[in-house]
Amino acid sequence: MLLALAMASSASTIRLSSRSLIFSLFFLLPLLISNANANGDAGSAVSICIVGSGIGGSSVAHFLRRYSPPNLNFTIRIFERNGVVGGRMATVNVSGHTFEAGASILHPRNLHALNYTKLLNLTINTPSDSESSSGFAIWDGHKFVFKTLSFKSKLPFAQKIVSLANSLIMLLRYGFSLVRMERFVESAVNNFCKYYEGFETRPVFETVDEMLQWAGLYNLTTRTLAMELADAGLSPLLIQELVTVITRINYGQSVNMSGLAGAVSLAGSGGGLWSIKGGNWQMAAGLIDHSEVDLHLHEEIESISSKGEYYELNSTQRNSYTCDVAVVATPLDELSVQFTPPISIPKRELQHTHATFVRGLLNPVYFGLNSVAEIPELVGTIEDPDLPFSSISVLKQHNENDFTYKIFSRKSMADATLDSIFSVRTETIRINWGAYPHYTAPEVFAPFILDGQHLYYVNAFENAASTMETSATAAENVARLILSRFFTSGPINLANLSSSTDGGVRHVDL
Ligand SMILES: Cc1cc2nc3c(=O)[nH]c(=O)nc-3n(C[C@H](O)[C@H](O)[C@H](O)COP(=O)(O)OP(=O)(O)OC[C@H]3O[C@@H](n4cnc5c(N)ncnc54)[C@H](O)[C@@H]3O)c2cc1C
Repeated sequence: MLLALAMASSASTIRLSSRSLIFSLFFLLPLLISNANANGDAGSAVSICIVGSGIGGSSVAHFLRRYSPPNLNFTIRIFERNGVVGGRMATVNVSGHTFEAGASILHPRNLHALNYTKLLNLTINTPSDSESSSGFAIWDGHKFVFKTLSFKSKLPFAQKIVSLANSLIMLLRYGFSLVRMERFVESAVNNFCKYYEGFETRPVFETVDEMLQWAGLYNLTTRTLAMELADAGLSPLLIQELVTVITRINYGQSVNMSGLAGAVSLAGSGGGLWSIKGGNWQMAAGLIDHSEVDLHLHEEIESISSKGEYYELNSTQRNSYTCDVAVVATPLDELSVQFTPPISIPKRELQHTHATFVRGLLNPVYFGLNSVAEIPELVGTIEDPDLPFSSISVLKQHNENDFTYKIFSRKSMADATLDSIFSVRTETIRINWGAYPHYTAPEVFAPFILDGQHLYYVNAFENAASTMETSATAAENVARLILSRFFTSGPINLANLSSSTDGGVRHVDL
C-alpha cells in the first residue's frame, strides 16, 4: 500500500481519423515553422533548456517532440546535477537486491505512465500473489489497534477466502464509512481524468489554479483532508486510523494535509498498483533517449538570467548556455538557483521523508509478540509524535529469519531505535528525501510561467499533489504552453493536434 496516483481516463478516448490527422499536419506546420523563424534567428534552431531529468523534465522533452511537427527546428538540453537521470525515481541496492528508494507505485489509471511503458517497451511489475494476502496492521505504540489476516498461499481460492475475510474485518471495524471513502477518492480520480481529454475539449492552462478549477479539483486544495472526509460522512475512527496510516505512509503527513493531496494519497492505497520492472527511473531515461535530448549529467545550474531575447544559464562547471526557453523541472524550495531578475513564488516547505532500508529481522518483543511470523508485512502507525516511524514493510523475504524491510519516518532512524525494533541488522541504508511539499490548506500556487516570458516552472503543480503522474501531467501542459506561447505570436490552436489511441492507451500523434 504505497503512493500512486489516480489519474485515469474515461474509456471514451478520442480517436483520430486519418483525415483529421492530415488536416492537423497541413494546418499546423506552416504556422509553427513561420513562427519559429520569427522567434529564433533565421534558420537557426531554437534552444530549449530544461533543468532536471526527473519524470517532469523528461516528460516536457517528450511532449515537446510529440506535439510538434518533425521539421520544427529546436534543440533540447536537459541539465542534471546528478550522474543519473530520474530524480526521485531512484533505486537502492540492499545486499545485491534492487528496490525502489523513492517513487514506487503507479495507479492503474496513470495513463501517461502507461503510455510511457508501452512506448519504451518497459515491463510492468504487478503486486505478487503473495502480496495480495499479506498482513496489514495499525500500531499505536503499545498495541495493534487493527490487524488483518495474513495468509500466504499460491492457491487463488485460498487467497480469495482470506481477502473476503479481510474485507469483512475492515467492514466490522469501519462500517460503511469505507464505501464513502471510496466514493470520495473515485470522484477526485474521475475529475483528474479530465486531463487526459483530447485537445478539442482541453485548454492549455497558464496557471495551476486555472488547471485545477477546470478539472473541478481546486476546492479540494482549499480545505484539509480531515474536513473533506468529515463532510463526506466518514467516521472519526476511520479518519484517525486507516486514513491517517495511509497519509503517513504516502506523504509522511497527517490528515491536516490538503484535501486533494489527501485524495491522491488514498487513491494510492487501492488495488492494481504497479511499477516498472528494474526501476521506475527507466521512464525518464527512455523518454530522454527518445526525444533527441542533449543530456548534461553532473551539471548543476546555479543561475538563470534573462537577457531580454534569451536566457543565460550558468552551471557549477563554469559553463554558460544560451537558451530561448528555460524550464525548471525540479522543486525550487530547497535550491539556491539565482534568478535575474528575481522571481517571486510562494514559500513552500518540503516534507522530509527518511527511507531506511534494513536487511535483518524484526524483534517481535518490540511489538509485544512471541514470534516474527506474527508481525504483519505492513505495519502503519497512527498520529503520535512519540512514534519513531510511520511504517515498516517487508520488501523481500530471503528466508525465515532474513528479510529486507523499508521504514518510512519523519526523522532519521537512530541506531539505538533500530536496535530496539530489530533483533538482527546486517545492512542499513538511510536516505533523507526532500520528498514532496508539506501540504497545507488552503494551498497557494506558484505560477507555471515564472516571468511572464519564457521561463517555466513544472513543479508549481506539485502543491496540488506530488506523484510521477502529476509531474507528467504538469509537464504535458508546460510543453503545450511552450508550443503555444513561443512558437506562435498568439495562442496556437493546439486543438488541431488531435488525439489518437495507441493500443487502447491514448496519445497524441502528428
Ligand atoms: C520517498 C518517496 C516516495 C514516493 N512515492 C511515490 C509513489 O509511490 N508514486 C508516485 O507516483 N510518486 C511518489 N513519490 C513522488 C514522486 O517521486 C515525485 O512526485 C516525482 O518523481 C517528481 O518528479 P520531478 O521530475 O518533478 O522531480 P524530481 O524527480 O525531483 O527531479 C528533479 C531533478 O532535478 C535535478 N536538479 C535539481 N536541481 C538542479 C539544478 N540546479 N541543476 C540541475 N539539476 C537539478 C535533481 O537532481 C532531480 O534529478 C515519492 C517521493 C518520495 C521522495
